[in-house]
Amino acid sequence: MISKKNLIDRFTGYVRIDTQSDSGSNETPSTKKQWDLARKLATELKEIGLEDVEIDDNAYIMASLPSNIAHEVPVIGFISHFDTSPDFTGTNVNPQIIEAYDGKDIVLNAEQDIILSPDYFEDLLQYKGQTIITTDGTTLLGADDKAGIAEIVSAMEYLVNNPHIPHGKIRVGFTPDEEIGRGAHKFDVEKFGADWAYTMDGSQVGELEFENFNAAGAVVTVKGKIVHPGYAKDKMVNSMYIAQDFINSLPRLETPEHTEDRQGFFHLTDINGDVEETVLKYIIRDHDKDHFEARKEVMKNMAVDINTQFGREVIKVEIKDQYFNMAEKIEPVMHIIDIAEEAMKAVNVTPIIKPIRGGTDGAQLSYKGLPCPNIFAGGHNFHGRYEYVPVESMQKAIAVIVKIAELTAEKYSAGYEKN
Ligand SMILES: [Zn+2]
Repeated sequence: MISKKNLIDRFTGYVRIDTQSDSGSNETPSTKKQWDLARKLATELKEIGLEDVEIDDNAYIMASLPSNIAHEVPVIGFISHFDTSPDFTGTNVNPQIIEAYDGKDIVLNAEQDIILSPDYFEDLLQYKGQTIITTDGTTLLGADDKAGIAEIVSAMEYLVNNPHIPHGKIRVGFTPDEEIGRGAHKFDVEKFGADWAYTMDGSQVGELEFENFNAAGAVVTVKGKIVHPGYAKDKMVNSMYIAQDFINSLPRLETPEHTEDRQGFFHLTDINGDVEETVLKYIIRDHDKDHFEARKEVMKNMAVDINTQFGREVIKVEIKDQYFNMAEKIEPVMHIIDIAEEAMKAVNVTPIIKPIRGGTDGAQLSYKGLPCPNIFAGGHNFHGRYEYVPVESMQKAIAVIVKIAELTAEKYSAGYEKN
C-alpha cells in the first residue's frame, strides 16, 4: 500500500493551501485562491501518470486512468471537492500529527486552552493507537474534503504502480465550491463519461450513503398595514402577529432539534419584520418524496386559510426545490452499492449504511445522470477547529477505491457490452 509518510505528506501539503469558498461570490470558483490547489492537483495527476488531465475555466479537474484489461467494463469515477467551508477559517492551517494516539485529551492549542477531548468527542476512542491528524486549534483542518482528494490521488498512483491489478477505465473528478452547494453545478457529466461514480466525502470509516433529503426553501412574506398607533383601531394590521400565527401553526416538534434518522422537518432559519412586512425563511427537508410534497402543501394551505380569513392576500408563500433524494436514482442501479459494500468487506471495513440528513454533490450528479453515492473519507467534526482525520481511515479509503476498481473489472468479465 501507499506508505503512511507519503500519505501524510500529500494530505498535509493540500490542507496548508487555503481554498475556502465564498457563497457571496457569483464566480466559479467562488474564490481565486482555490486555483492555487487546483493547478497543483492537475500537475500532480499528470506526474503520477494519469491521462486526459484537464482543468477547465471554472477549475473543474478531470483525468483518466486507462483500462489495463482487454475486454470492456463499465467506466467508474471518483469525485471530491477541494474547497473548504466558509463556516470557519482555512487560512494558515497548521496540521498536527499525533502518533499512536493514547486515548487521552489532545491539546490543540495550549496558549488558548483548546482541547480535543474524547469526553466530548467519543468517536476519538475508536482510533486509539492510530495516527491522528488534527488542527492547531485556530483553523479548520480541511479533511473535508482534502482527505478525499489525497485518497483518490493515492489510489490512482497505487493502481499505476501495480499494473497486475485489473481495472477498467477510471475517471477522476475534483470540484470547487461544494461547500456552498455549487460543486455539481458546472460539473460536465457528459464529458466525465462514467457509468457511475462515488464521491469520497463522507465522515467516519465505513460510511456508505445513497439516501439524502429532498430539500426546498420557502420564503413567507406577510403584508401588514401601518397606521399611526393613536388612530389604529380597526385599521392597523401588524404583519408580525400574522407571521407568529403562521409559525405556531406548523408542528413544533417537526424541527431539526426534535428529529433524527428518516424524520423530516420544517426549519425556520430567519425572521425579519416590522408592522408593514414580515419575511420568514424556512428550509423543508424529508427523505420521503410524498411527505416532502405534503410538507410543501401544508405551508401553501396555511397561507390560503389565513388569506381567506382576511379576505385578501396578506400572506404569500414561495417555495423553491433545492435538491432531491438520490435514492430514487440509485435504487435502479443497486449493484453500484453492492460493489462498494463488497469492496469494504474485502478490506476489513464494516459498511455503515445510513441516510444523510443533508445533501451531497452526488445527489445533484445523480439527477444529472451520473449515479453517485457517497463513501467515507475518514474525517470527523467537519467545518471547525476540532476537525481531525485518522491516517489509518484514509488508508482504508484508498484500499476501498482500489478494491472497487478491481471488483468492477472482475464482475463484468463475461462479455459485458455497453448499451
Ligand atoms: Zn465535503
